[in-house]
Amino acid sequence: MHVSELSAVPEWLPEHLGGEGIEELYPPQADAVDAGVTEGESLVASVPTASGKTLIAELAMTASVARGGKALYIVPLRALAGEKRAEFETFEQYGLTVGVSTGNYDSDGEWLATCDIIVATSEKVDSLVRNDAPWIDQLSCVVSDEVHLVDDGHRGPTLEVTLAKLRQRNPGLQTVALSATIGNPEILADWLDAELVDSTWRPIDLKKGVHFGQAIHLEDGEQHELGVRDGEKPTAAIVRDTLDDEGSTLVFVNSRRNAEAEARRLTSTVEGELTADERDRLADIAAEIRDVSDTETSSDLANAVEEGAAFHHAGLASDHRELVEEAFRDRLLKVVSATPTLAAGVNTPSRRVVVRDWRRYSGEAGGMEPLSVLEVHQMCGRAGRPGLDPYGESLLLAKSHDELDELFDRYIWTEPEPVRSKLAAEPALRTHLLATVASGFAGSRSGLLEFLDRTLYATQTDEGGRLERVMDSMLDYLVANDFLERDGDDLTATSLGHTVSRLYLDPMSAAEIVDGLESTDERPTALGLFHLVSRTPDMYELYLRSGDREEYTMIAHEHETEMLGSVPSEFEERWDDWLSALKTASMLDDWASELDESTITDRYGIGPGDLRGKVDTAEWLLSAAERLAGELGLEWAPAVREARTRVAHGIRTELIDLAGVRGVGRKRARRLFETGIEGRADLRNAEKSVVLGALRGRTKTAENVLENVGRSDPSMDGVEPAGSVAVVGD
Ligand code: ADP
Repeated sequence: MHVSELSAVPEWLPEHLGGEGIEELYPPQADAVDAGVTEGESLVASVPTASGKTLIAELAMTASVARGGKALYIVPLRALAGEKRAEFETFEQYGLTVGVSTGNYDSDGEWLATCDIIVATSEKVDSLVRNDAPWIDQLSCVVSDEVHLVDDGHRGPTLEVTLAKLRQRNPGLQTVALSATIGNPEILADWLDAELVDSTWRPIDLKKGVHFGQAIHLEDGEQHELGVRDGEKPTAAIVRDTLDDEGSTLVFVNSRRNAEAEARRLTSTVEGELTADERDRLADIAAEIRDVSDTETSSDLANAVEEGAAFHHAGLASDHRELVEEAFRDRLLKVVSATPTLAAGVNTPSRRVVVRDWRRYSGEAGGMEPLSVLEVHQMCGRAGRPGLDPYGESLLLAKSHDELDELFDRYIWTEPEPVRSKLAAEPALRTHLLATVASGFAGSRSGLLEFLDRTLYATQTDEGGRLERVMDSMLDYLVANDFLERDGDDLTATSLGHTVSRLYLDPMSAAEIVDGLESTDERPTALGLFHLVSRTPDMYELYLRSGDREEYTMIAHEHETEMLGSVPSEFEERWDDWLSALKTASMLDDWASELDESTITDRYGIGPGDLRGKVDTAEWLLSAAERLAGELGLEWAPAVREARTRVAHGIRTELIDLAGVRGVGRKRARRLFETGIEGRADLRNAEKSVVLGALRGRTKTAENVLENVGRSDPSMDGVEPAGSVAVVGD
């Protein structure tokens, strides 16, 4: 189908697509149009990676907006929201408005009412529904990207419940669900009352295979010699072979540490192949990477990038990830070793993909666990760049003949697993039952059962009894903890229950926080509060490494009086969790005591991205704790606010006033403080030369800071910095 044949889409769209090099629709896209996706029909598209799913969504959304509606695009990861926004913003020239909502979970995102297309994560949409965002009722089209993630035990239930709520609120809502190729797309279509496009078509051929010994064995029976050199690892041989063909390689490994080590090792394979121009450009990128942060991870990454290789994992700062993705797309980087997070969406095609590790460590299974077929296929799907490569090739690595056969059986000849709803689990139901009652989707036990009947779980199982049993036990929990009140069949949320639902807290986190705050007669310390929020299910704790148990047991004894709530004994099972939370709390305490970022990442064995993530979560949980303290009339709200501000900025108490000035931050606040400028009032009256000196002679920064603190004459014209300062330029 040619784009000019599209009907029901805005007039400008065919020409716009032509401008982007899209003339003929890909077959699955044409099938979607035939199924009515531009006319408001709901659709499940189960299509391989990189086969143009986004365009299916764009056709549905722009057509829906042209009919006077509003579209919502749900992304699985925050990192993808920015990428999608950039794509949809190309429609702004035709008068459409696009908004992205990530940020705080407890706002109603009122400004989004003016947007035609809204991009948000499923958690954010869930929270907007809980906070009664008024525009939810105006939605005419919702797109769920990577909908197969309903299978994810941790985040899947939120997506599932959110789609059910949106569809209950807007009975005519068009639902477009985009999925990787999965074993049972029919069930998704059944659940969403949608048409189904189920296709294995790809714009570029993909050959999957296994490397063993000296040869690559492909699924079509073809074999070729690789010529592995003496002492050379198979991955290096494949990367070298791909380079001979002027292609790049993406290597998937099972841990961050392995990703870093592999990148370092592979520099020796690619380094000699770089041109002088590539070297220069890579050196610039390495400098940018070093600018982002001065941590060990940052410097390791920059060192590898200078030599044409990089690693990519969730511990990287997002700026680092973007720089790596861009340099790989520009073919400057010849190899990237990544953890599977890269497979989940981000558009980074390469000539070859190597799935080096097909097992990964799983805490739950207590050992190594094979990756799912779906995950491996998603990784493999990254191979082949349309228009650049004749075909893409993805390889698993076998160490023995038996493993060669096993890998073919397990991953190459096998269909991806069916997706299964994970809703009937306690943590998921605890949270969603409360929210469903609090936001008015159900007002009784029978109403809840009716609501749950709209979920994938109900569509998928005949065994309703299990869900009902878990539901009843969770309702008991919610009533016992004062979040819900029960009167016969009727259920209502208490004021506390409403607050918890709006704050987007797991009720168990809220119960822990309330218990901790109620347990003390003395003003809680920052460490005590950090520990309290670190042991809630909403915070991922740091793992204990060898030696940690002794160290944190000692710290626990030293700070025993600061701990809120009941302290377990060393012989109780929950002692380890308690210590892990203490390790997390110590890390937050170090940050709020102005320790260097790089000292912290070294001390706790984490990446800068992890530190940011923990700090953000702590900030959110402490602001929730402050609200709960207010709600319950407890006197500790100011202490909680102080701890929150300290962790948000990474500062000691005495800097709170200064760090609140926009443009100041932890390092600048400390330097200002050291010159005797201890607060906003001082800053408003300070000698400009002193301010400029403390800000290391950076004129623009100094002017901004003075303007933000409300000084009427912020200009630094002719001012010389006081003190011995020679650094200029931000
Ligand atoms: P997916 O979301 O399925 O992983 P994308 O939507 O990102 O894949 O599409 C992959 C690439 O294919 C994009 O660069 C997109 O512009 C391009 N593309 C999509 N549809 C067409 C088409 N009909 N003709 C040419 N290129 C297309």
